[in-house]
Amino acid sequence: MKILVLGSGAREHAIITALLGEQAHEIIAAPGNAGIAADVTTVELDPNDPQAVANYALAEDVQFVVIGPEAPLVAGVADALRTRGIPVFGPGREAAALEGSKAFAKRIMQAAGVPTGRAQNASTLAEAEAVLADYGAPYVVKADGLAAGKGVLVTNDLAEATAHARHWLEHGEVLIEEFLDGEEVSLFLLSDGHSVAPLSPAQDYKRLLDGDEGPNTGGMGAYSPLPWLDERFGSEKAFVDEVIDTIALPTVRQLAAEGTPFIGLLYCGLILTAKGVRVIEFNARFGDPETQVVLPRLETPLSGLLFAAATGTLGEHERPVFRDDVAVTVVLASENYPGSPVTGRVITGLDALGPGSTGFEGVTVMHAATDRDGDRLRATGGRVLSVVATAPDFALARDRVYAAIDGIHLEGSQHRTDIAAKVVRADAVAGARAGDS
Ligand code: AMP
Repeated sequence: MKILVLGSGAREHAIITALLGEQAHEIIAAPGNAGIAADVTTVELDPNDPQAVANYALAEDVQFVVIGPEAPLVAGVADALRTRGIPVFGPGREAAALEGSKAFAKRIMQAAGVPTGRAQNASTLAEAEAVLADYGAPYVVKADGLAAGKGVLVTNDLAEATAHARHWLEHGEVLIEEFLDGEEVSLFLLSDGHSVAPLSPAQDYKRLLDGDEGPNTGGMGAYSPLPWLDERFGSEKAFVDEVIDTIALPTVRQLAAEGTPFIGLLYCGLILTAKGVRVIEFNARFGDPETQVVLPRLETPLSGLLFAAATGTLGEHERPVFRDDVAVTVVLASENYPGSPVTGRVITGLDALGPGSTGFEGVTVMHAATDRDGDRLRATGGRVLSVVATAPDFALARDRVYAAIDGIHLEGSQHRTDIAAKVVRADAVAGARAGDS
């Protein structure tokens, strides 16, 4: 199949890697990055321009388009392709508002009876202050719109919460939410507008620094699966089934009933509170960095699943199957990310991780913000690389991923050292318990 993948991040690199691993697809990426360009053809095409993408797809006989990031969705790229009869994985502009507008998402959740926290929109500072006082600390203030993961503030400091609200009110409305306490889970479900097919759950690390300190980022690392789900729900399947029944299907049905069917990736950002599973957010596309740990574990061919979702035949598919191996990814970010990252610096050490290298079994490097400059590779943005390791257990996966990271050099770079550390500790405790009995 001739497939066009839109986007330029590590998520798209992971999607392309999964597609390349299954069949001899002809893959074109727009615009891609240096890592993607080493694997497939890349083209200079504005992924956010609906007509340009549709014209290109028609002219080049593209059979299927996979949209990675949210911006093309909100720009209406999927609508333009569907109008021309080109199968596309990704929701239209209106359904993508599930991610693009937190107020729209809240309305859909209320209409569908989906469990979520209390929330109220504010369009003036006085309104925001009143809701903050009503809900109390910890305060959760969100920009209502796309803010690349940086519009959300969770704090105990009322002055900081008020200042965040004041800042984002200059750009539109803000949403004040009830604070939800518990473990976070990212669950991806493919949807063809009516049925859903779940992928394996993952957990990401949003804060910049170890111990969940520092500012929120686009995501600094992730792991999958989540062994602790078994303890709480009996099995991963029991958890996934509950999310399908109480969250994903009601949401997909509500959107279909409103004439805006959701065809693409329904990303459920969940918190497991003492009172049950609650939605903190929906996204309308694969999450980054969770995709980098979910797709390497997927055994079922990805292209078949994405194409079935795009063409309304997902209901005929078996549930996707995952390997027992675990996966861990650690993001390497530029100096000063998530503020104004220092860009243009040279990255070295990746050759040792390339095909044919030894000592890095199970490791792949997904590129995010990279560009080739002659023989050199340069960092072009905040999150630069996503180093992924798979292994039979988390201790080995962590050893592999950090051994690989240690060999990569980018001046001033930052990464977390505690990704998946807590599941290794839990593994060790469970192992000791098993040994006692
Ligand atoms: P979001 O962009 O909405 O996913 O928010 C980013 C991060 O902020 C989430 O991953 C949570 O860690 C945190 N967060 C968002 N909303 C809430 C909430 N209502 N209660 C607690 N933490 C939240």
